[in-house]
Amino acid sequence: MMPHQPFEEWLLAAHDLSPAEAAKLEAHLRFCSSCRALAAGWAEAERRLETAPLLVPEEGFAGRWQATLAAREVAQRRWQAWLLLGLALAGALALAVLLGWQALSALLSPAHAAVSLLQVMVWVAAAVAAAQQVGLVLVRSLAALVPPGLWIALVVGAAALISLWLITMSRYAIQGVRQ
Ligand SMILES: [Zn+2]
Repeated sequence: MMPHQPFEEWLLAAHDLSPAEAAKLEAHLRFCSSCRALAAGWAEAERRLETAPLLVPEEGFAGRWQATLAAREVAQRRWQAWLLLGLALAGALALAVLLGWQALSALLSPAHAAVSLLQVMVWVAAAVAAAQQVGLVLVRSLAALVPPGLWIALVVGAAALISLWLITMSRYAIQGVRQ
């Protein structure tokens, strides 16, 4: 059996060999196919290791990817906020129509005003419960998008509308009780 040592070890450390060792290794490789195959395999492995860095993501890739992700998240949140705002407005409009109809029927038939007031209260309780759920998500989504001044205007406007409605309904209720 042909002794392949120390040539096999030398092949794996070819860069650290002295000129004498390199010459001995070269002489061995000339007639040893087994060590030639090992040398070829090792050279191929080294070549692949050297070309591997090309597969590493180019600089800035991670940053750009995160920026894209953040932009997508903002766009999605903005879209959700508009959707929720639309839903809230639709709900408010439906409630306004109901209240208007209720007020109109109370005006035409004052005797039903007290009963109507109870009905409206039930509706309002349901609407408030629904608005609380929507509002929580809405506030979270809109907080970053709506400027503080607009928030104050919205809250003041809502308070004014509720006050107006309460005054109107209590008048109808008093009228209904009197008759
Ligand atoms: Zn050999």
